[in-house]
Parts: sequence; C-alpha cells; structure tokens
Amino acid sequence: MNIDGMKCSRCRQPAQHRLPSHNARFCDKCLGIFVRRQAEKAIKQFDMLVPGQKVLVAVSGGKDSLALWQVLLELGYRAEGLHLALELGDGKFGEASLEASQAMAQRLEAPLHLFNMAEMAGFGVQEIAWANKRSFCSVCGTLKRYYLNKACLDLGFEVLATGHHLDDEAARLLGNLVRRHQRYLDNQWPTLEGAPGAFAKKIKPLCRLRGAELKSYAKSQGWSVAKGACPRSKGATLPYYTEAVRMLEERMPGTTINFYLGYLEDKGAPPAKPEMEARCSVCGMPSFAEECTICRFLENTRKRESTKRDALKDQG
Ligand SMILES: [Zn+2]
Ligand SMILES: [Zn+2]
Repeated sequence: MNIDGMKCSRCRQPAQHRLPSHNARFCDKCLGIFVRRQAEKAIKQFDMLVPGQKVLVAVSGGKDSLALWQVLLELGYRAEGLHLALELGDGKFGEASLEASQAMAQRLEAPLHLFNMAEMAGFGVQEIAWANKRSFCSVCGTLKRYYLNKACLDLGFEVLATGHHLDDEAARLLGNLVRRHQRYLDNQWPTLEGAPGAFAKKIKPLCRLRGAELKSYAKSQGWSVAKGACPRSKGATLPYYTEAVRMLEERMPGTTINFYLGYLEDKGAPPAKPEMEARCSVCGMPSFAEECTICRFLENTRKRESTKRDALKDQG
C-alpha cells in the first residue's frame, strides 16, 4: 500500500516503505536492493565470506533468519539452512518456527538440515537447568551455541551465519557497556574467526540493517514468519536495552547505526583468533577444563535423574 503519494528515493515510483534512519523511502523492489546492498557491504567490510562460498544459515523461522537465507543465496553464496528445534515447553512456538523454516527451504529450493537440541543433549533444557541450578535462559543459550557449532562442523561447513541485526547488536553492546562486561565487549564484532575442527567462523551479515527494515522486507515478500519472542525469555534483561535503543532511534533517527558502527570503528580490529586450547576429555570439543561446560552440565543431569529414579524405586 502506498503512503500519502510518497515516492521511492531510488526509482521515483510509488513507495511503500519509510526508512527514517536513512532518510529514504522505497518501493518493494528498491527495498530488496537496499537490503541486499547492506548485507553485501557488511560481508565485505567485516571479511565474512569470499564470493560463492559455502555457508550454513541458522534458520529459526523468524523474519530475520529467513531474510538472511534468501539474501545470501541472491548474492551468490551457497547457503544451506540449519534449524535447531529447541522444545521450549510451548509446542506452538516450536511448530510455527519449523513450518516457516520448511516453507522457506521449499521456496528457495535449498537444503534445510533439521536438528533437535533435546535429542542431541539427551535431556531437555529444563532438566539440565534444574540439575545445574542455572537459569533456563543461560543454559539454553550455552547449549544452543555449543550444538549450533557442533552441527555446523558435523555437516562440514566452516562458516555459520546468524540473523542478528543492527538493533540486536546495538542492544547487546549497550547492555555490555552498562554492565562493563569486558569479556563480551572484547568479542563484540560481527565476524568471529573459527579454528579448523573446533570452531566454525561466526558471521552476522545483517548487522547494518534495522529490525524494522527487515520487517518491511519480510512483509514485502509476503512470507508467513514465526512471530513473537521466546516463551521462556521472561527474566532476560536484553529486552530493556532493545527498548532503550528503539526509543533513542525514534527520537534521533540514525543513532543506532552510528552507535554500533562507531564503536566498531574506534575498536579498529576484530578480536584475536580463538586459541586452540585443550580438548574436553568427553566430547573432544575445545575446553579450558578437563571436561567442557556442556559435558559437566549433562553429567550433573544424569546424576540427578538417576537419584530421582532410585528414590522412586525405594518408594515402590
Ligand atoms: Zn523504487
Ligand atoms: Zn565436552
């Protein structure tokens, strides 16, 4: 739908999308060109991929990861999808995510690799969180990073792309600055180099695009996307920083990109390549300790489950 006789900043045809951060208005076609160009710019600026490279896209079924997958293919990269089912105790959220991912794979005629985190771990996130006295979100995040990386290496991909966009990265940066989390600040960069057989290279090609711009893009493409936040994310603080960034952007368009890219510019260089540390004696993945965090998590969960079983047996 055209807004008040608005004209596209590129082609002068009727425009449907307003992008205040760039002081621009676009028609559907030119918005697509804009999104591709911004992704291409990020890929070059932060040495993400070489032309035609193979890349695995973490596809949740939300608008961002769907857009990322399509854009990478359009830019000529050999992009395949990876959907990691999380089973967060809300069947509908998981189902919608899987359906949207599969529909996209069909449209793109590209392979989608399906993994289930509970199957890979042998336990659900909740059981692991209880057994280790950790919050659901922190356990879920740790497991997700580990199994995404593992799936990527098992499938023979060297690069893993995720759909994090500018607002995500700016909110995370703001949170890390406020809390002075130096270790996380050190790693704040849209490309993290990998190490063969240990870490996949992690890239965020949408880091120059705002969430609202990707929402317009998904709408212009007519996709049905999995909506809503994770049903378990109630205790997380990131939404406050997201809200703060959104408010600043609304009052002062262009603030987000200046804040985020300005920070990276001042920093000047990507973080050092990951050290090839010792390996976990159980799973063989890189680890500082004899046993990695995940294997320790799982060991504690097995112990707790067997104690529970013994207690039930005694009762019976
Ligand atoms: Zn246009
Ligand atoms: Zn391990």
